[in-house]
Amino acid sequence: MNLRSKSKINNLAFCFFLLSTFLCFADSTNYQYYIPVENKKVDRFIAKGLEALKEYGDFKIPVNELHIRRSKLVENPRLFSRADIQDWQTVKTRINGLLKSHKSLRSHFNHTTIKSDTLRQKVLVIKLLNSILLDEDFYSEEKFPNLKLTEEQEKWAGEGFFGSFSKDTFKLNRSLLDTLLKGAMASFKVIKRPKINMQLCELASEKRGVFVIYLKHEPDSDPFYCELAHEMFHLLNPKVYDWHMEGLASVFAEKLLKQERKNWDHFEKVLSNTQKAYGASYHFIKTLNQYSKTPFQSMLKFTKPYRGSREKIDIKPWLKETSNDFKTLYREQLSKYYPILIENKSNNIEFN
Ligand SMILES: [Zn+2]
Repeated sequence: MNLRSKSKINNLAFCFFLLSTFLCFADSTNYQYYIPVENKKVDRFIAKGLEALKEYGDFKIPVNELHIRRSKLVENPRLFSRADIQDWQTVKTRINGLLKSHKSLRSHFNHTTIKSDTLRQKVLVIKLLNSILLDEDFYSEEKFPNLKLTEEQEKWAGEGFFGSFSKDTFKLNRSLLDTLLKGAMASFKVIKRPKINMQLCELASEKRGVFVIYLKHEPDSDPFYCELAHEMFHLLNPKVYDWHMEGLASVFAEKLLKQERKNWDHFEKVLSNTQKAYGASYHFIKTLNQYSKTPFQSMLKFTKPYRGSREKIDIKPWLKETSNDFKTLYREQLSKYYPILIENKSNNIEFN
């Protein structure tokens, strides 16, 4: 798991920021705690969005998988989702091996072998894994004579020193499945206080090109698409923390929503406040983009390191390639919005 580093800012300011703005930097969130969005209309919108993003050059990290989550807590974070599977081939082989050696498991699968080639088959595998997870009789020493339980698993099995008072079938089953399918799936991660209401594009695995986008509003609602389109822009380079990027993400969102005939009112209202950084960044970039969109199509080629693994826009060389009129307009607009944006530097988003 390759989550971005934890941001260290004042808790109160952080909560306020979570509730009041679109959050684009990661904290210690983990998708297992959030409600997965599986919706065909949303999938179609994503496909259009990925196509539209090509206008801005190559993706810094190829997007192989994109999972959408609501930034609301799921009732049972231990339940599996597709995002947990890191290697479908291995999961398929291991499950089929288990089905051969453990006939009792066939009652869950209703098949003697499983497939995982199509989306439908994958969704079915997740459903079946979750039926095992919820099965109180999944584990017994007789069924798994060769499986050596860890101390914690024994506690959950209600065996040995800890006795039956500590029995927790649910934790035991998830832990056993993590062991049985080790290396092919993400193990469950305990987080004491998961955050809510963030809007965030998270790079879950750089190596595998897996991204998770968290959104606040009801799936398939108008505000949901506003948020989704903005966060999708961060897929181009999730490491950039820069107000130019935020502004451009909102400009992109507006364009995509209008192209897809979705309602833009929600963001129009939110972004109308130019005394707040997201509103300021949107109007700053929108004015420039209306004058000429060409400089923005190449902007993401101009980045430089910023705070460890993060990046920011390298303004000087980017601006150097633009026309004199554009440069003048940039400076004019910059002086207008600079105070608001520089003030919000504490949000870990750079502006220079
Ligand atoms: Zn953003």
